[in-house]
Amino acid sequence: MAKQILVVDDNPVVLKLVSEVLKKKGHSVRTAEDGLIAINILDGYLPDIIFVDLLIPKINGEMLCKFIRSKPYLDNTYVIIFSGIVTEVGVDLHSLGADAFIAKGKNSTDHIQTVLEKIENKTLRQFETMNYGFEDVFPRDATVGLLNYKKHLEVIIDNLSDGLIELTPEGIILFTNPAAEALLSISQKQLLGRNFCTFFQKEYHKYSLELLKNAPQGHRQMNESKPMPLKERFVTLKVFSIKDGPHTICIALIHDVTEHKQLHEKLKLLSKTDLLTGVYNRRAFDEFFVKETNIVRRYKEPFSIILIDIDKFKDINDSLGHNIGDDVLREAVKVFNLQIRQVDFLFRWGGDEFVILLPKTDIEGAQIIAERIRSAIETYKFPVPTSVTVSLGVSLFQLNDDIHTLVKRADDAVYQSKTDGRNRVSVLLP
Ligand code: GH3
Ligand code: MG
Repeated sequence: MAKQILVVDDNPVVLKLVSEVLKKKGHSVRTAEDGLIAINILDGYLPDIIFVDLLIPKINGEMLCKFIRSKPYLDNTYVIIFSGIVTEVGVDLHSLGADAFIAKGKNSTDHIQTVLEKIENKTLRQFETMNYGFEDVFPRDATVGLLNYKKHLEVIIDNLSDGLIELTPEGIILFTNPAAEALLSISQKQLLGRNFCTFFQKEYHKYSLELLKNAPQGHRQMNESKPMPLKERFVTLKVFSIKDGPHTICIALIHDVTEHKQLHEKLKLLSKTDLLTGVYNRRAFDEFFVKETNIVRRYKEPFSIILIDIDKFKDINDSLGHNIGDDVLREAVKVFNLQIRQVDFLFRWGGDEFVILLPKTDIEGAQIIAERIRSAIETYKFPVPTSVTVSLGVSLFQLNDDIHTLVKRADDAVYQSKTDGRNRVSVLLP
């Protein structure tokens, strides 16, 4: 009965010869010159028999067999390995799920014929001996050496902590090591033939594709990409390309930088945080100030600041000790935080001075919040025998202000509060 047969071999002469033999017998034949073409064909074609050469470009024969055996719809398809190196390969050919192995040699056509007959009689899978033509060939030392070397490299690649992916310059996956499978949380068999770039979020598709297109030849000049989110992790890619005969193959090394990035974010936040009180520090104010001034210019919304200085704080330190002074600072921050809104930002300006930035707030609004803070501090039960009060100064951002002029007005207002007797709010208009 005529069969649908796929022949996968990179040697055009072999492809032609085998095709002709099969076609003469009335079978319909399709051919693929590499493993990637083969899996693309298998996407919409259900052959009865597939002949697979082991050493083929892109996706090699071993991986192609594993791919085929991972597809339940190909369960009834016979896989026949037809290779020149069957006698040298140390791998357990059984594990590849092949039904027979034919050694390329002078009697190949006869062996193909025998195998086809056994398929026709449904007896091929009943036989223990699956090797055909092995008596015609003998292991070649050089090939054995090369294959051993390949195995050696495979062990290294399998144990790399970085993900390693072989792909076409268009991003089609040809090989993945276990670390890459783990990062993508998909098995190698399911990854073959899929586009690697689509595993990244949409905004990184183009960027990752460009990395592949511009991959330098050889690994020495490769640059590390910027960190990109991949599944739940952050990774960087190092990409280079190699020439595999007429094909260009890209190698992407995927490095998991999640912990590194988290640490970096933590350090960044820490560099903006005051260690004693946990609120933003003065350095952070610069950043927030720029953001707020941009909003003011764009949306014509006002913003104000309140500068707070604890009254006679030195006396607390001197009489009760520096540690109690620290406690007072921390307690004061709690009180401030209770009085400000979610949208406001609190900064420790230094020593016993704090700044509150109030977005979308005019001078009257800021004055009300300042008064609320003053009163809350005055009535709060600090863990000290003396009363704690604060002097506050309010200023409204003007379009020609910089940080210095804005804070200077608030500082002058605080000075005003101090000279007026402390525990009060002053406003200085420009
Ligand atoms: P005034 O009412 O005029 O503000 O008087 P004052 O004593 O509060 O004077 P000033 O604001 O100049 O004093 C601030 C003091 O805060 C001086 C410094 O020793 C103390 N100080 C600065 N940083 C810290 C800190 O982190 N912890 C403690 N406990 N004290 C600090
Ligand atoms: Mg003070």
